[in-house]
This record gives sequence, structure tokens and C-alpha cells, in this order.
Amino acid sequence: MQNQTSDTKPLMNKICIMGMLRRADIKLTKQRVSLASLLFNFKSGHFTAEDLHDETKIKNLKISLATVYNTLNHFSQNGLIKTLQLDNQKTYYDRNTKNHYHVVNEKEIEDISTDAVKINLDNYEVPEGKKIKSIDLVITLSDK
Ligand SMILES: [Zn+2]
Repeated sequence: MQNQTSDTKPLMNKICIMGMLRRADIKLTKQRVSLASLLFNFKSGHFTAEDLHDETKIKNLKISLATVYNTLNHFSQNGLIKTLQLDNQKTYYDRNTKNHYHVVNEKEIEDISTDAVKINLDNYEVPEGKKIKSIDLVITLSDK
């Protein structure tokens, strides 16, 4: 599909992962390196803590769901990944940290480039003393 952004961090080895954690100022622990390796080699660029926790079970890593949550929040605070709120149900995490929008088609979440959509803010006045920090857009598709 045109205008799709490519996932920037596919299939990374452990050395890359450790370098990335260091650059993000994240102290290296065995569990953090394991979780980062899993999530940057995950088939999907968007996932929940539960998805990642299921993956740790498949890989026979003994990491609790609470640790997965804490680690993902830590990674996101340090800018390694982004959180993504698509609905009120679940928090998704996104390993594409570049500015982009999302299309949700059934259960599939796709990235689309910000160039694919024009947002017109002519009729919106940013309140005094504020600036726009980010614009998140989620396009949800359904059958006609
Ligand atoms: Zn995304």
C-alpha cells in the first residue's frame, strides 16, 4: 500500500538491542534485554502487554505480566516505544516511534504516513500559552 511507513526496527539481534537500550538510557537487565529482543522481533509492530507476555511463555521465559507492564512503561517513558490508545479497552504499544497515524481494520493495526492525511486546523485556536505537542489519528474501518 502506498503511503505506508515501514517498520523501522525489524529483526534485531541482541547486540543491537543492548545498544538501543543504552542509547535510551535504560539500565541493562537480563529481563529488559529479553523483553526488548522479543518485542523488536515480534511479528506485529503494535502489541499489548498481554501479547508480549504470551510470547514470553512461548519462549519459556519466566517473566510475570507485572514485569512486562513495568518494563513496557519504562521503555515508553524513555522513548524506545510509544503507547497507543486505540479505544478504552487496552493500551497498545508501538515500536514505530516516528510520527505516524493508524488505520484499524478489524483487529489489524496499520501505520500510515502523516503525509497521507491533511489535517486542517484553521478553525482551531490553540489556547494561550499552549502549543500542539502531537496529533494522533486513528481511522477505524468497518464493512460497508
Ligand atoms: Zn504505529
